[in-house]
Amino acid sequence: IGMVMLYLACLRTGAVFLPLNPAYTAAEVDYFIRDAKPALFVCDPDRYSEGEAMASAVGKLRVETLGRNGDGTLIALAAAQASSFDTVAVADDHLAAILYTSGTTGRSKGAMLSHDNLGSNCFTLRDLWRFSPDDVLIHALPIFHTHGLFVAINIVLASGSAMIFQPDFQVTKLFYTRLLQDDRLTAEAVAHMRLFVSGSAPLSAQAHRDFEHRTGHAILERYGMTETGMNTSNPYEGQRIAGTVGLPLPDVAIRIADPETGEVLPRESVGVIEIKGPNVFQGYWNQPDKTAAEFRNGHFISGDLGMIDAQGYVAIVGRAKDLIISGGYNIYPAEIEAALDALPEVRESAVIGVPHPDLGEAVVAVIVPRDDGFSDGDTIMAALLDRLARFKQPRRIVFVSELPRNAMGKVQKAAMRETYRARKFEVMASLRAGEASTRAIHGTLAALSGLADGALQALW
Ligand code: AMP
Repeated sequence: IGMVMLYLACLRTGAVFLPLNPAYTAAEVDYFIRDAKPALFVCDPDRYSEGEAMASAVGKLRVETLGRNGDGTLIALAAAQASSFDTVAVADDHLAAILYTSGTTGRSKGAMLSHDNLGSNCFTLRDLWRFSPDDVLIHALPIFHTHGLFVAINIVLASGSAMIFQPDFQVTKLFYTRLLQDDRLTAEAVAHMRLFVSGSAPLSAQAHRDFEHRTGHAILERYGMTETGMNTSNPYEGQRIAGTVGLPLPDVAIRIADPETGEVLPRESVGVIEIKGPNVFQGYWNQPDKTAAEFRNGHFISGDLGMIDAQGYVAIVGRAKDLIISGGYNIYPAEIEAALDALPEVRESAVIGVPHPDLGEAVVAVIVPRDDGFSDGDTIMAALLDRLARFKQPRRIVFVSELPRNAMGKVQKAAMRETYRARKFEVMASLRAGEASTRAIHGTLAALSGLADGALQALW
């Protein structure tokens, strides 16, 4: 709660708020401090000496502490101040916050968000999702990220709703896919709930349907990102279509462009999603070149690949950098994940491309089976035969008990590509060493997999 108060105090005084994941190491924090050059660094009392060391290295940095139990030097300082102050008037484009992008590849960039970016998005969503003083929001997201900090907290405050704040809750425990595994999830158990919202990472169409079947609630899926806040939402009234992220928000314009040429594509074509609206950020902190490179005719180039259907619903098919090009064909991981997730044996899946000597890249499916110990890749492959064109079918299937995810629950595809790429090269080396029987390949892959709980299948 201290952190929420600090955020609100920054908004009211016109200071710029820069939240960081408390799990960051000293070296990571050091990068953010040097990049952002804040005047004040507020950290956990346990990390005070770390903060002090940084302050003496960079100069001009004041360090205060804020503990979880209402302790810390900042609280002591606040106690000596008046209990109220006049809000400082600022212009709409005044910076409210800098949020560093998750940066699963490369160095994190600081996205600069103005008061109007936050305000416009908050009021739009409040109205669209019908938030009122009668609502109670269960907040179980980290508050160093756009969804937990802005979507949740701003909407609650702007609508006068109540909030049950569970900062220590393990986000993974609230995943819809996890809830579905629990028999206690019944229509009765959630009869008092008004709305279930999902976003930040894809919700499989299958999980959407299963949830509706079990509870009678159609999850409302929306799509957003650090740089833009929310962009689209399934309608409150009207069809919430599984596998889509809904319609552009009323004040947001979305178009689909050719990733290479920037040419705007007609409906139902797959391309990069570009966004324009009052929600779109002011640029990357201290990186005008990167900012310029990510805008095209006033639209932010999201890096997400998607499609707009005949009714105007947007579907995400993956990240531009996750696109797999195999044998010259473009393959969208989301399409294969959807086919896999629809199989009764599959709880969830992630599809990646790894280097392949002939194809350029080959499709690898990483599967969490519904039943522990299931590792029958042949059954999966057989089920895909008439569902996916040959070039889209996985060349290798890996079974794991869990997908690697970050604090926001996003599947770490870059890390997975590294894991499976390295193994592939080792296997290639052993092949060259003459162990070319299928059995040997299977054995080598299994030995190299390092997945104590997983079984590995070589399909090429
Ligand atoms: P972040 O900036 O960390 O919030 O990450 C934003 C990215 O998360 C987007 O660019 C999308 O790739 C992904 N994302 C957010 N919402 C969804 C969604 N509903 N479905 C699929 N991907 C999503």
